[in-house]
Amino acid sequence: MADTDFDVIIIGSGPGGYVTAIRAAQLGFKTAIIERDYLGGICLNWGCIPTKALLRSAEIFHYLQHAKDYGLTVEKVGYDPTAVVKRSRVVAKRLNDGVGFLMRKNKVAVIWGEAALQTPGRVAVKAARSEAPKGALGPGTYQAKHVILATGARPRVLPGLEPDKKLVWTYFEAMAPDRMPKSLLVVGSGAIGVEFASFYRTLGAEVTVVEVLPQILPAEDAEIAAFARKAFEKQGIRILTGAKVTKLDKKADSVTATIDDGKGGTQTLTVERAISAVGVIGNIENLGLEKLGVKTERGMIAVDSFNRTSVPGIYAIGDVSGPPLLAHKAEHEGIVCIEAIKGLKPHPMDRHLIPACTYCSPQIASVGLTEATAKAQNREIRVGRFPFVGNGKAIALGEDQGLVKVVFDKATGELLGAHMVGAEVTELIQGYVIAMNLETTEAELMHTIFPHPTLSEMMKEAVLDAYGQVLNI
Ligand SMILES: Cc1cc2nc3c(=O)[nH]c(=O)nc-3n(C[C@H](O)[C@H](O)[C@H](O)COP(=O)(O)OP(=O)(O)OC[C@H]3O[C@@H](n4cnc5c(N)ncnc54)[C@H](O)[C@@H]3O)c2cc1C
Repeated sequence: MADTDFDVIIIGSGPGGYVTAIRAAQLGFKTAIIERDYLGGICLNWGCIPTKALLRSAEIFHYLQHAKDYGLTVEKVGYDPTAVVKRSRVVAKRLNDGVGFLMRKNKVAVIWGEAALQTPGRVAVKAARSEAPKGALGPGTYQAKHVILATGARPRVLPGLEPDKKLVWTYFEAMAPDRMPKSLLVVGSGAIGVEFASFYRTLGAEVTVVEVLPQILPAEDAEIAAFARKAFEKQGIRILTGAKVTKLDKKADSVTATIDDGKGGTQTLTVERAISAVGVIGNIENLGLEKLGVKTERGMIAVDSFNRTSVPGIYAIGDVSGPPLLAHKAEHEGIVCIEAIKGLKPHPMDRHLIPACTYCSPQIASVGLTEATAKAQNREIRVGRFPFVGNGKAIALGEDQGLVKVVFDKATGELLGAHMVGAEVTELIQGYVIAMNLETTEAELMHTIFPHPTLSEMMKEAVLDAYGQVLNI
């Protein structure tokens, strides 16, 4: 095989692309990955990981401010915004280097540049604007029997709310601010908007969140979202729901937003900075898709349950193949896709079992059906709840505000969904995800012994509550 010929070429090295490349190499495919910007994609460089580093700084700052509650004395609490951002960038760089290491370890060729399909098995690569990592192959034409598109997504831009990098930010600028704004407007209350609202509020900014839908965190269970809203408002975050930012007027160092309150009125709000967090759109342009007849739907590449596109030999995974736009969805899709290419007959991904986590304070985590979606499907359900205030570990941690909620099918005892808000719930949810993958019933969950004292005990108590057997409340 010539140096430009591969079994599999993956375009995009985010969590979808790079994980698929490793699995492809494990399966014996001669594999190449093409990247134009950063190894690790949005997730490692401008998404999941650097935001969690920022939120960690904010969390520690919060604890230091409340040191007295724990019997501790701290003389002076403060922060250096440049150092907070620097730490987050160092964390991102470390993971970006890690992907380079993993590619070398698995003998995946890295090709540096902007890729486009010429024909189903032929990819043209133009020079990238960014600097290539050591050892990467350069521009040229490359061939492979299978081409997997993992090109990810970018911020959606709404008319009137166009980001300008200075006053109106996307997540890129919000993650590396030149200084901490005293006041901030966040447009959109999905996971990205809420995480930034939480970060900036904890560090002292006056934060207003405007959401067009009636509830914040629109994809979450209504009761959990309402609980989170109360907690955010208690922290001083101002939240407007059912309201729409229609215009952002930029001045020299401030932005004035016009907000339609959804009840026939408008108001204006002047802030130092605004973040547009109104969703993302797929990177489907300039890939040669139209020419080859690759079908797209609502700005994403249409795929079947093994991520095959409408053109044989071309596949799409991750954000570019549609929601949910989550790193673990991208990774899992990639594994299923490459194993199917190999002929291993993997199970298609069960979208119902993809967990969702938001790392604000308090954290939010969920999997499966919400109470409302279960009812909308005309299911007879049993709902169980357990509040953090009834859990010894939560009280010992000083984190007694939160809720665990479970939704069961009344007839079969099947766990249909689990929803949580509170400290560390993003680490807890996986227990329910495993249970649901194993099609566990309420009886098996009740029979399971949870260690004491842990926050996880609330997961069992919520199940017990659904069946009238709750103990500690
Ligand atoms: C602020 C923020 C926080 C987030 N937090 C979380 C979180 O906590 N948990 C979670 O699960 N998800 C989170 N996400 C979402 C997560 O980042 C994405 O779901 C994930 O990155 C998608 O992975 P991907 O592989 O599909 O694409 P990406 O990570 O977007 O990678 C795509 C790559 O393809 C490259 N590319 C595109 N076109 C070309 C081309 N023509 N040629 C060469 N290269 C190309 C891009 O440069 C990019 O590196 C967050 C996102 C943001 C923005």
